[in-house]
Amino acid sequence: MQKGISLKPYNTFGIDVKAASFASFDSIEELSTLLPSIKTHETLISGGGSNMLFTKDFEGLFVRNCIKGIKEIERTETHVVIEAGAGEVWHDFVMYCVDRGYGGLENLSLIPGCVGASPMQNIGAYGVEIKDTFAYLDAVEISTGEVKRFHLTDCAFGYRESVFKRELKNQYVICNVAFTLSLHPTMNTSYGVIEAELKQMGITTPRIKDVSNAVIRIRQSKLPDPKQLGNAGSFFKNPVVADEVLQSIQSTYERVPSYPAGEDQVKLAAGWLIEQAGWKGKRFGNVGVHELQALVLVNYGGGTGKEIYELSQRIIEDIQEKFGVRLEREVNIY
Ligand code: FAD
Ligand code: NAP
Repeated sequence: MQKGISLKPYNTFGIDVKAASFASFDSIEELSTLLPSIKTHETLISGGGSNMLFTKDFEGLFVRNCIKGIKEIERTETHVVIEAGAGEVWHDFVMYCVDRGYGGLENLSLIPGCVGASPMQNIGAYGVEIKDTFAYLDAVEISTGEVKRFHLTDCAFGYRESVFKRELKNQYVICNVAFTLSLHPTMNTSYGVIEAELKQMGITTPRIKDVSNAVIRIRQSKLPDPKQLGNAGSFFKNPVVADEVLQSIQSTYERVPSYPAGEDQVKLAAGWLIEQAGWKGKRFGNVGVHELQALVLVNYGGGTGKEIYELSQRIIEDIQEKFGVRLEREVNIY
C-alpha cells in the first residue's frame, strides 16, 4: 500500500490528482489480503482508467485490478468459452480471440480499458454489446470475501448499464469474465460505416479479422488516442426519448438522426445534438470538445477535472434548452 500517489498515469484524461492510498493485486488471494482495507476505506477499483474523471484528489483507496490470464473453459463443435482475467487489456483479449477465429467480439476492437470493466457498462460499439456473447463473470463480494458467479440474467445488462452500476454498486470486485464465442461466426456489419469501410478495403466476403481491421481503421480516423490527447471516449450517453420529443426536434431539424429503441421510443445521437448546438471543436483553455467527434471531451494537457466537468455541465444545460433533451454523463465522476 502506497500513500499520496499521483493518478495521472492511471486515468486516460491524464488528470493530475492524488490518491490518499494506492494498491494493486494480481490474484484473488492477494485481493483477500486487501479486503480489510477496502471494507474500511472509500475504495475505487480500477482497470485502465478510461471511463473516469477526477474532479479532486481521491481521499480513499485506489486499487488496480491486475489479474491476468486467458484460458479456454469449454469447446463444442460450434462454440468455445474463453475466460479472461479482469486485468487483461480489453483490446489484447479481443485480438487473442480474433487471431484464433473466435467470433463475436471483433466489433469491439480497440476499446480502451480492461476486461474487468467491460461488464460495468456492458461496453458496446458498432452494433454489438458484450451482453451478446457474455457467458459469466466471477466477482468477490467485498462484505464477505466470497467469490460469486454471475450469469447473463444476473447482470441486468442494458444500454451502457448493468447491475454493477446500480443495485450492486461498489459491492463486488470483478475478477474474471467469460464469453461464448462462435467457431462458425456470422459477421455483424449492419452498422453502416463498417460496410462502407470494408468496401473501401476491397473486401466483399469479410472474415473476423477484416471486420476487426475495419473497426480499428474507423476508430483511428475519428477518435483521439488517449496517449496523445486526454479523453475518456463518449462523455455522454445517447439519450433515449419519446417519439414526441423526436417529432418536436424534427420540426426545426428535419434530418435529425434517430434509431428505434423500443415501443414509442427512439435513440438520438448525443454527438449530433452537441454538434448542432455549436460545441464541436470548441476549446476553453486546456480543455474542449473534440474537433472530429463532439461526444468526446478532451484535455489538451494541464486541464483539470473540474474544468472538464464544468464544460460538460454547460453542454448539458445548452442541449436541454435547445432541444428539450437532458443528456446524462457516461463517464464516472469522482
Ligand atoms: P475504469 O475506467 O478503470 O473503470 C470504469 C468503472 O468500472 C469504474 O466505476 C470502476 O470502479 C469500475 N471497475 C473497473 N474494473 C473493475 C473491476 N474489476 N471490478 C469492479 N469494478 C470495476 N466504451 C464503450 O462502451 N464503447 C466504446 O466504443 C468505447 N470507446 C472508447 C474510446 C476511447 C478513446 C476511450 C478513452 C474510452 C472508450 N470507451 C468506450 C469507454 C471505456 O473504454 C470503457 O468503458 C471501458 O470498459 C473502461 O475500462 P477501464 O478498465 O478503463 O475502466
Ligand atoms: P457514429 O457512427 O458517428 O454514430 C453516432 C451514434 O449514432 C452512435 O453513437 C450510435 O449509437 C448511433 N448509431 C449509428 N448508427 C447506428 C445504427 N446502425 N444502429 C444503431 N445506432 C446507430 O458513432 P461514433 O461516435 O463514431 O461511434 C461508433 C461506435 O463506437 C458507436 O457504437 C459508439 O457507441 C462506439 N463508441 C463508444 C464510445 C464510448 O466511450 N462509449 C466512444 C467511441 C465510440 P450507439 O452509441 O448506441 O452505438
